[in-house]
Amino acid sequence: MKKGISRYKVLWAMLTVVVVIALAWPLKVCLPKGGRNAAPDSTPVSSTAAASPAVVPAVQPVTAPAPAPAKSAPYLQILMYHEIGDGPNGLYVSVKNFEQQMKYLHDNGYCGITLNEGKALLDGRGTLPAGKPVVLTFDDAYSSFMTYAYPVLSQYGFRATVFVITDRTGNSSYPNHLTWEQIGELAAYGMEIGSHTKSHPSLPTLSPAGLDEEIRGSKTILEEHLAQPVYSFCYPAGEYNPAVVDAVARAGYQQAVTVKYGWAIKKNAPFEIPRIRISRYLTYDKFVEMFAPPVPAQSPSAVTSGKTVKP
Ligand SMILES: [Zn+2]
Repeated sequence: MKKGISRYKVLWAMLTVVVVIALAWPLKVCLPKGGRNAAPDSTPVSSTAAASPAVVPAVQPVTAPAPAPAKSAPYLQILMYHEIGDGPNGLYVSVKNFEQQMKYLHDNGYCGITLNEGKALLDGRGTLPAGKPVVLTFDDAYSSFMTYAYPVLSQYGFRATVFVITDRTGNSSYPNHLTWEQIGELAAYGMEIGSHTKSHPSLPTLSPAGLDEEIRGSKTILEEHLAQPVYSFCYPAGEYNPAVVDAVARAGYQQAVTVKYGWAIKKNAPFEIPRIRISRYLTYDKFVEMFAPPVPAQSPSAVTSGKTVKP
């Protein structure tokens, strides 16, 4: 009997080690290359990642019932980017800084996910990625996303949400915006395509019909091009009022993001979700500070009452 217990303890200790390793390993690879629409990847990104599929099945029989992947996230950092590259204003984040930021997230076990995925986690209905979730959003759908951001994000298996202004898509007057073909490629990878209206107006100044045209109209156009639902909306320049929020809800969106500064939490109104602006002036040290040490528990008001930053 004693011998049996001792053997059990040894076995349990060994399994614990295996489980710890198995949990740590997938952090190397956030998501399979090629996104959710891709077939299971037979070419692991790193040699260490190749070992994890063999380890996981070995511990499953003794960890019954199998751990459910769905969990809620108490809070989320939703990062807001615009242009990647060198440019004349604070909307630009240099390629070097962006690469350093994504490398930091990857090396510290974070996984870039979409806003729609992040909102599901906050609501307790999502599936945690293989890593600590951080939502990445890119406003205005600039072509610099394709040139500089996409290669870095896909290298780490990160996803992101790109907010598209439909009138500027495939429009030769806006050569620095993504084309429909590029947007289609991003969607096929697993990037979320959200709406940023048709023409980027100041929404609070519009009539009800104007709001419908910009908010519902852009959703319809995106869904026709992508043949998939569009769940997320982003207010141009962060401008909204109750009538705008109502129009966004009636159009069938699930959530909308603002430019109000703060971590997102479950108690946020679904159409007034705060974000963390990443500007060209943010130093690497300040970026790192946002993620470590662990964020202390905060009251909803403390989290959401940060300053509003004008874009
Ligand atoms: Zn914008």
